Amino acid sequence: NTLLSLKQVGKTFSNGTVALQDMSLDVQEGSFVSLLGPSGCGKSTALKIIAGLGNLTTGNMTWPTATVDQLGRPDHEISFVFQEPTLMLWATVFDNVWLPLRLKGVKKKAARAAVEEALEMVGLQDFATSYPRELSGGMKMRVSIARALVTRPKLLLMDEPFAALDEITRSKLNDDLLRLWQKMNWTVIFVTHSVFESAYLSDRIVVMAARPGRVVADIAVDAPYPRG
Ligand code: ADP
Ligand code: ADP
Repeated sequence: NTLLSLKQVGKTFSNGTVALQDMSLDVQEGSFVSLLGPSGCGKSTALKIIAGLGNLTTGNMTWPTATVDQLGRPDHEISFVFQEPTLMLWATVFDNVWLPLRLKGVKKKAARAAVEEALEMVGLQDFATSYPRELSGGMKMRVSIARALVTRPKLLLMDEPFAALDEITRSKLNDDLLRLWQKMNWTVIFVTHSVFESAYLSDRIVVMAARPGRVVADIAVDAPYPRG
């Protein structure tokens, strides 16, 4: 099933910058799509449009299998993971992961099972009462991923999530992300400028070029080995 369909989407910012031109993309449920390209080719702009954090200027975006509101937003959960983990430094790991549920009015007690499960999924079950300052960069990213997972999103958007991490940490997170993706049957759109990362993680690589931002290749990757 097609989860999301972009048809000739364009984005021109009010200062005249054409960030995206004629981007068409159908994302299948359960797929792992990488958006690969140099800085400034519109990857983040595309992700923000998909997340509903920015408007498109031309073209359209549809969610064929979801019910949408008046603004065209789907009724299912979309989670966003940024390069910066953006954790609340004064709050415990547990409270950081609880946040998206809390914003929906779920009390701490009722959220406990879901938060603990999310922490377990990223291997941080023993760190619920720790504070972000006590954690390494990789662990902070894991908290950020747990926070994205706790709402059980149908679509996970990741914007160069591991770019600031060292190679070993990054490689472990890549492996763990692949395992989670296979286990949970998520749809993931992963922005990167690493050719290696896109080839390692995704079953589809969408290559973009800049000035103006546009899609120049759309490649199905059939890995001959089981991934994850
Ligand atoms: P929109 O057309 O979606 O309303 P705007 O052009 O108004 O977006 O810009 C949104 C915000 O991004 C503004 O606060 C603007 O100052 C900021 N901004 C402007 N140029 C850049 C840039 N090159 N990169 C990132 N942010 C920028
Ligand atoms: P990428 O994520 O591939 O590095 P972006 O989507 O961030 O690229 O940016 C695409 C282009 O749009 C760049 O030229 C960038 O400077 C410009 N841009 C991004 N955000 C804004 C903004 N808010 N206002 C004006 N220009 C922007």
